[in-house]
Amino acid sequence: MANHCKTCGKQFEEMNEEFCSKRCKREYLKTLEKKLDDVFKNDPGHTKRLSKS
Ligand SMILES: [Zn+2]
Repeated sequence: MANHCKTCGKQFEEMNEEFCSKRCKREYLKTLEKKLDDVFKNDPGHTKRLSKS
C-alpha cells in the first residue's frame, strides 16, 4: 500500500505521512493559510458582524 502526496500527488511509501516531503507539507499549509485569508478578505461583512457583537 502506498500513500499519495496531498500537494503534488506523488506516490510514496511513508505510512505515517500525508506528504512525500517536508517541502510539500509546508507548501500545503501555505496554500491552506492563503485560502483562509481569501475567505476573510472576500467576506468583510462577516468580520464586521463578529466585532459588533
Ligand atoms: Zn509531494
